[in-house]
Amino acid sequence: MIEKMLKEKYNISDEIIEKYKSVSSSIEGEINKIKEISFINQMKVLDSMQKNKLSDIHLNATTGYGYNDIGRDVIEKIYADIFNAEDALVRTQIVSGTHAISIALFAILRPGDELLSINGKPYDTLDEVIGISENVNSLKSFGIKYSQIELENDRYDNNKIKEYLSKNKVKLVIMQRSKGYAWRKSFNIDEIGEVIKIIKDISPNTIVMVDNCYGEFVETEEPTDVGADLVVGSLIKNIGGGLANTGGYIVGKKELIDMCSQRYSAPGIGKECGATIGQNRNILQGIFMAPHIVGEAIKTAIFSSKMFEELGYESMPKYNEKRTDIVQALKFNDKNKLIKFCQGIQRYSPIDSSAIPEPWEMPGYTDQVIMAAGTFVQGATLEMSADAPIRQPYIAYIQGSLTYESGCICIIRTINDLQGEKI
Ligand SMILES: *Cc1c(COP(=O)(O)O)cnc(C)c1O
Repeated sequence: MIEKMLKEKYNISDEIIEKYKSVSSSIEGEINKIKEISFINQMKVLDSMQKNKLSDIHLNATTGYGYNDIGRDVIEKIYADIFNAEDALVRTQIVSGTHAISIALFAILRPGDELLSINGKPYDTLDEVIGISENVNSLKSFGIKYSQIELENDRYDNNKIKEYLSKNKVKLVIMQRSKGYAWRKSFNIDEIGEVIKIIKDISPNTIVMVDNCYGEFVETEEPTDVGADLVVGSLIKNIGGGLANTGGYIVGKKELIDMCSQRYSAPGIGKECGATIGQNRNILQGIFMAPHIVGEAIKTAIFSSKMFEELGYESMPKYNEKRTDIVQALKFNDKNKLIKFCQGIQRYSPIDSSAIPEPWEMPGYTDQVIMAAGTFVQGATLEMSADAPIRQPYIAYIQGSLTYESGCICIIRTINDLQGEKI
């Protein structure tokens, strides 16, 4: 039935319909594993909502200063519980993941302190925050030292990390769970736990912070479960469940969250201010939905990975590899194909399907970037989206899909166009 409809309505080629059929059946086992993870995470979310006595009244809005917003307080308790953390800061005033990371770094680091990244250069948008790219407002401009340890065969270089920490006083180690715009495997929770143990054995006072963007609910544990002091992410990625309109979160040790909150608002104000202007329901229902929706996104990633592999492209991760984030990388080795692919993802999205994305100099990024995001929430990447920095070997990073069905339709139609053009 589906095959017939694909052909009749969308004129999908017989070859791609055959591939759709064989791929759908060969990924069944993987899809079942994803359902199990969603189930376990759903229990975690439900339990925390019940434990914190989430009630209808918490869905109300505050305005102005936002004093005594009991909904906001309960959201932060629920986040803290889900992450097995002491405290949380979850705010719509945090404009993005980069902002959340920036708040945490500026909150904790003082002149003379050292920041160390253990997975090479961090995510592109942190270049100006840290001062890797010149910006007069960077951490560097405040006299904060930065160093990084490169990966060894794409994994943490434990020996170099040990050696570095035994010789240098590092205030904060930052690590990134997701691959970002890099062709390598992301770091799973076991690996994050192991390296945190190594860091803490040598330097117990070093604060460990994990950039958790794209990672929430992909496994059954989060970095705070394995010793991270601070975990940071965006509400328009996984944990917003597709419903949060904007925002970011920081969870972790109480004392550190307090410092972050003083930086987020102002010293002396901390967590007390920040009107929720009607967003509490979206944030709460979003986290309720997130374990399931993240599952839909991963199912779509598995499908895409296998489809592209069958068509002769390289994909990372492979369809049957263990995942720790929702990002699926597809290697095109060709600038034109990459751009056409991203344009296809936009064309078959629910919103702005008639827009044609082009590479542009996006603020915070070094290379030109093309981004397809035909999304209900602007730029939200738990929704079907594709981004690609325009650089060799021309890799597209796809994320999301709120539903597996819409993700599959989008991918099938995009592939059909690519094949049709014989490029
Ligand atoms: C998306 C992302 C960020 C930055 O988040 P924005 O919300 O785009 O500012 C940082 N790190 C990683 C790994 C990301 O995926």
